[in-house]
Amino acid sequence: MKTLDDLGDLTGRRVLVRVDFNVPLARGEITDDTRIRAAVPTLRELLGRGARLVLVSHLGRPEDHEPGLSLRPAAERLGELLGTEVELAPGVVGEAVQARVAEPGGPRVLLLENVRYEPGETVNDPDLAIGLAALADVYVNDAFGAAHRAHASTEGVAHVLGERAAGRLLEREVRTLTDLFEAPRRPLVAVLGGAKVSDKIDVIERFREAADTILIGGAMCFPFLAALGHEVGGSLCEAADVDLARTTLTRAGGRAELMLPQDLVIAARFAADAESEQLDRIDVPADRMGLDIGPRSAEAYANVIQAAGTVFWNGPMGAFELPRFAAGTRVVAEAVAATEAVTVVGGGDSAAALVQFGLAEQVTHLSTGGGATLQLIEGKSLPGLEALG
Ligand code: ADP
Ligand code: MG
Repeated sequence: MKTLDDLGDLTGRRVLVRVDFNVPLARGEITDDTRIRAAVPTLRELLGRGARLVLVSHLGRPEDHEPGLSLRPAAERLGELLGTEVELAPGVVGEAVQARVAEPGGPRVLLLENVRYEPGETVNDPDLAIGLAALADVYVNDAFGAAHRAHASTEGVAHVLGERAAGRLLEREVRTLTDLFEAPRRPLVAVLGGAKVSDKIDVIERFREAADTILIGGAMCFPFLAALGHEVGGSLCEAADVDLARTTLTRAGGRAELMLPQDLVIAARFAADAESEQLDRIDVPADRMGLDIGPRSAEAYANVIQAAGTVFWNGPMGAFELPRFAAGTRVVAEAVAATEAVTVVGGGDSAAALVQFGLAEQVTHLSTGGGATLQLIEGKSLPGLEALG
């Protein structure tokens, strides 16, 4: 992987940086600026080396030029973080943008508009890639969260600009996530939860080979419990997922011991005001659904995490968005924050849970990727990364 260390003198040169400013917005305000802050080290370093920056990112899934998905709020926030003016370009590519970039006294930091305003972005249109490449001399990709997509700004443009490298965030994400599988401090513990087994079956399989213990929580536990013959009541549990879970349980080999919950928190429905009950076993009554792991399970998981050398966590232990079903996720999050182990957390909802509990600063690495993180863990290549090679 080429990094910023491999780039030559950047004084006065224009660098196109693919950043991931795909931040959550509520009524035009950024509600979590983690991804913008995560890009700052690369941008500061490039500015410090005398480069002029042209930044490109997507935001959401705009239909046409949906004004609510303009990157203006991100430009303002980045300006505050860098302490430098960040100008928002009058579009993504084209004459007006080109003119602004070429102006001698032009902006040191220019943020292009939402690249998905261009229909060519998601289909990796070569014309858009060429249009983007025309704005700069060097390409740096620091958008780890978008690296699993072969789009014009993440993949196509890299082939057009000869000089290219990974930014510091992309570099750190890839190193940290691949290091999990290369001589990790043991025991290596994977904590896997969330909604569906099918989304994460390849992640489970990879850790079956690499980890010492896998702790299963969230709705993901029900296909496993069902495969073992337990009643799951109205819990989230698809037949196809039960088949996958059964295959995992019966397949020989694999290093990791798989741990499942021994107790649950249940309710009649998935709702904030649903009456919650503790169930000191794992057979869910027909008119109830499991919405969190129980306190004995949470404590057992916390003990394994405490004794780990390395922990990877993806997927909440329950419906943590609803306060009555957040306890299992909280206990696990606190254990991950407190352990001496190297701790790596990935996944949009898992990251949100850590932020919600105020523990985001207390893990070794909080990944900014969702799909990209999982794809790397699965051992698959990322198009955005390949294109830098
Ligand atoms: P991540 O984004 O961290 O990869 P997922 O998207 O796979 O995690 O899963 C998060 C979702 O799973 C949350 O919305 C949460 O409410 C849901 N979830 C977790 N446990 C349960 C459960 N027992 N029943 C229903 N939904 C659950
Ligand atoms: Mg999610």
